[in-house]
Amino acid sequence: MSPTVMVTGIGGPRLTLGFDRFDRLDLDRHLAVHGKLETPALDDLVTMAEQVDLRGRGGAGFPFARKLMAVAAQITRSTTLLPGEKAGARRPAEDAVVVVNGAEGEPGSRKDKVLLSRAPHLVLDGAAIAASALGTQRIVVAVEDDESARSIRAAIAERRMPARVVRLVDRFISGQAGAVVRAVNGETPIPPGRKVRVAESGVDGCPTLLSNTETFAQLAVLTSLGADLYASAGTQDEPGTTLLTVGGTKVVEVPFGTSLRTVLDHCEVSAAQGVLVGGYHGMWLSPLDAARAVLSRRGMRAVGGTVGAGIVLPLTEGTCPLGETTRIASYLAAQSAGQCGPCRLGLPDVVRALNALADGSGGLDDVRRAAGIGRGRGACSHPDGTARFVLSALEAFAADIELHRIGGGCGQPVFGVLPLPVPTGDEGQVAIDWSRCDGHGLCAYLVPELIQLDRYGFPVVLGTDIPPWMERDVQRAVAMCPALALRVITGVPRSPARRP
Ligand code: SF4
Repeated sequence: MSPTVMVTGIGGPRLTLGFDRFDRLDLDRHLAVHGKLETPALDDLVTMAEQVDLRGRGGAGFPFARKLMAVAAQITRSTTLLPGEKAGARRPAEDAVVVVNGAEGEPGSRKDKVLLSRAPHLVLDGAAIAASALGTQRIVVAVEDDESARSIRAAIAERRMPARVVRLVDRFISGQAGAVVRAVNGETPIPPGRKVRVAESGVDGCPTLLSNTETFAQLAVLTSLGADLYASAGTQDEPGTTLLTVGGTKVVEVPFGTSLRTVLDHCEVSAAQGVLVGGYHGMWLSPLDAARAVLSRRGMRAVGGTVGAGIVLPLTEGTCPLGETTRIASYLAAQSAGQCGPCRLGLPDVVRALNALADGSGGLDDVRRAAGIGRGRGACSHPDGTARFVLSALEAFAADIELHRIGGGCGQPVFGVLPLPVPTGDEGQVAIDWSRCDGHGLCAYLVPELIQLDRYGFPVVLGTDIPPWMERDVQRAVAMCPALALRVITGVPRSPARRP
């Protein structure tokens, strides 16, 4: 984990207990701080998780008890068939797999890396508790960076645990449950083209309990404290604490029910132009809504926001909100798996509509139409999440957008304050040599996702990185350009400051 991540808290620490004394809790330190692992029976674990309404902390907020029960319904610990049960209908319990999803494809999230690198035994405790309750020893920890992998491997070795570590690629969509299972199974780590229930058929086709890193750490804390003590922090409806990543560089543990303003003050950041909550599939809040927002699912819903994966990104003064939103939408368009129309063609259209809105040549309705076309029709949540992010910007930045609409700009540059992955230098973008291009339009026919023709028949290029799934099509278009005008350029800065 990058040393630039600061970990702090409001109220008493739980997941981050001991962080004030130790950089990393090895097994001895972990036992000294958190005590010995308790392993409750499945029924007791389900009851406890229901009592505190423990939910996944990866963004979707699915109830953990229901996940556990869904896997339990697919397995049996007995070789004797239940009345009416067909042979082979359930898998032996030892086939079940517990997967810790350590993917943090959201560039603004650091909390799971913090846990994996500093409190690996707390995460492994949670995974071991779930595995023991289900009657299996099969545990997989999927991570995406070297430091997490090193830390978790060392912890597994310390406790001589039969667990496997799998490396994921660091892409926005790689953390989706189906994509993680595919990665663990050695397949291309993208969401499957159809909805799958990993509780029924996940790793090696076996019933799989997959949850986010923080969720397993919360499960360990819940088992250690018991439901009553766990509920002594947070609100009555939403007990406990949660981890937030604020501004991409600070991880803060807070009790549910803490006001967003308290968190921003604690982190010494201002919400001068608004706050993005829930990450790049989340929502923008106006400064007014941010001032009255409370960090809980209910509190966020009340102002049109979401807790999501605990990402809080304040937009400081001086940068163009619409430009920042367009910059992230371009990134998201290039991150798609390209498996369905809403991703392949819909997301580039959203970026085009945003660019047109920014330069005053397009309107709000064009953005709404582009964002709404594929709603609910994607193979995964990427198009819907991106649309949600973009549409919320139209509400939160209405005044800025009006300046763009009237005057083609708001007078502020785009500083690129929202975090994006550090470019590797290999990312390519399509470019056109205007001294050669004679407007055949063949390129727009071959790669309509990236190139469209203007009203004079000349190509207009979408300024995003070329998604991996389009590389072959782009190479073909380059090879077929009759005027040798089409090129791929690399090393383009991803977040250039744009002058007003
Ligand atoms: S195919 Fe080549 S010449 Fe034709 S419009 Fe595209 S870039 Fe221009």
